[in-house]
Parts: sequence; structure tokens; C-alpha cells
Amino acid sequence: MADEHRVGTAFDAHRLVAGRPLVLGGIEIDSPVGLEGHSDADIVCHALIDALLGAAALGDIGGMFPGTAEWEGARSTDLLALAWERVRAEGYELANADCVVVAQDVRIAPYARAMRERLAAILAVDAGRISVRGTSTDHLGFPGRGEGAMAHAVVLLRRPEPGRTRA
Ligand code: MG
Repeated sequence: MADEHRVGTAFDAHRLVAGRPLVLGGIEIDSPVGLEGHSDADIVCHALIDALLGAAALGDIGGMFPGTAEWEGARSTDLLALAWERVRAEGYELANADCVVVAQDVRIAPYARAMRERLAAILAVDAGRISVRGTSTDHLGFPGRGEGAMAHAVVLLRRPEPGRTRA
């Protein structure tokens, strides 16, 4: 029997407003506006969580972390750690994750390395398995007008066949 591979994909978007910190991939970005939300609204972590849960068919972020007082103001890196713990408990390893942030005036490149290292530490993999990139929509749509930002994530999980352990 061969190793099992499972792919997951996800998307998240939040509104950009004044008076909120901008946290992406667990890193605070220097910005006059931040993402609005029940938690710290880190769309990179939210998309990653949903992609991981989706790949393992374990539901979604809203099911695991409902909009209750318990999760108000939560750090999304903590939510990611909890979601990964649940996925890992099913025997999965993370082959890689690829995240794309879509925003008009937020430059990701200067922070990408720090985000990748932060996320890799939470997911207990080498930073070489995690990609974070940014793009814009050339002023089109809500990201282009600066009303919000979105993130996409794709992950590949691997579950070694029973009785075989990975180096
Ligand atoms: Mg979200």
C-alpha cells in the first residue's frame, strides 16, 4: 500500500479598517490599516487552517473556532497550532503549503521570510516547505480599492502507509 496524499485548498477575506493592527502569517506588518475580525483576522493563518482541515476532511475553521467569546481576540497562530494538532492526530504530515495574499497596498515580500519561518515553526516543518507570496489585482475589485484583503492557501498532506515511518 502506498502513502496517502491529500490536497486542501482555502480562501479567506476580511475588511481593512483604520485602528487595527495588520497581522499576516503571524507577523505584524507596518500599515495604517489592519484587518477587521473576531480574532486578529490573520487571513493567511485562516486560509491555512481551512486548507489543512479541508485536506483531512475535518470540517472548517468556523466549526472548530465558532464566533463565541472564547475565541474573541484570539491569535490566529494559536488557532493554527490547534488545527494542526487535530490534523496531525489523524497521522498526517505536511508536505508543503503555498499561500498567496491578495492586497493592493500591502507589500508581502519584505515580510515573507519571517512569515514562512513563523508558520513553519508552528507546523513543525522546515521553512522550505512553506511559501508565502503577495500579489495585487491591479486596482480591480475590493482588494484593488483597498477595502479588504484576501488570502488563498493550498496544502498537501501525506499519510505514510501503516508500519512505515518517514526519515
Ligand atoms: Mg477569517
